[in-house]
Amino acid sequence: MRRFPAFKVPPDYVGVLQPDGGVLEVEPAIAAQLALATAAGAKIRTGEVVRAVEPRAGGVRIVTDRGSVEAGAAIVAAGAWVRSLLPELAAPLRVTREVMGWFEPTDAQLFSGGCTPVFIIESRHGMHYGIPPQGSVHAGVKVAKHHHRNETVDPDAYDRTVSAADEALIRAAIAEHIPAANGRLIAAKTCLYTMTPDGDFLIDRLPGAPDIIVASPCSGHGFKFAPVIGEILADLATTGATPHDIARFSLGRFG
Ligand SMILES: Cc1cc2nc3c(=O)[nH]c(=O)nc-3n(C[C@H](O)[C@H](O)[C@H](O)COP(=O)(O)OP(=O)(O)OC[C@H]3O[C@@H](n4cnc5c(N)ncnc54)[C@H](O)[C@@H]3O)c2cc1C
Repeated sequence: MRRFPAFKVPPDYVGVLQPDGGVLEVEPAIAAQLALATAAGAKIRTGEVVRAVEPRAGGVRIVTDRGSVEAGAAIVAAGAWVRSLLPELAAPLRVTREVMGWFEPTDAQLFSGGCTPVFIIESRHGMHYGIPPQGSVHAGVKVAKHHHRNETVDPDAYDRTVSAADEALIRAAIAEHIPAANGRLIAAKTCLYTMTPDGDFLIDRLPGAPDIIVASPCSGHGFKFAPVIGEILADLATTGATPHDIARFSLGRFG
């Protein structure tokens, strides 16, 4: 607490400092990856809805709301919608509703100049994580509760409004452990996790359709792995194998 005065924790708590921990700026990172892919010859088609991914002799047909594409292989990385695109995928994926809030610091000093790092705190209120204000990216301290209410939802029909009860679930930990962030709620958003039973990723070929590669690298912690997941998927789609050990991500582990 002397080093990071924004936190208030009981004396019996233990802290783990990861010196090389940090924050990824998501949107610039995605833009950079798309730009690199385009430079390497990829065609990025946005706002186009894939209706079906169908195995064909020697490849795959992707049917969209604008036509169809014949390809040698397809990587399906459709997030919370992977099961609706591949109904035959017998993976026990669960989509859960998550909520994030951005809170005005009551003492901005404590969150400026690197005084407060990105954090995860496990307390009697559950596991909360957060990111201090990020200049132009977002004002306020971003805080959320991992597995918020652990509520299974339909990705196309879930409550995207943030209620007072949602806010209270996040504020409970803030009030006790990061009181200097317990100011006005500046903004709040909902989001979706795609959970596997063991919280690990799913990367495998669709049984019976080896040219369709399924990628569900989420369970609430997949973004930071995007470059290596991309590498693995590219290997599988182009050479059929990858030097990375991906056994732990197999579909077969679910029996
Ligand atoms: C609240 C919250 C906090 C998180 N915090 C972190 C964190 O701090 N660090 C971290 O590493 N990860 C974090 N994650 C997890 C991370 O966001 C996910 O693991 C990651 O986004 C999964 O990437 P994806 O490409 O599999 O899915 P997505 O990013 O969901 O991308 C799937 C895309 O497929 C598109 N799509 C779906 N169906 C179709 C269709 N039929 N036709 C065309 N397009 C379609 C969707 O529109 C979407 O753009 C967090 C997630 C949430 C919800």
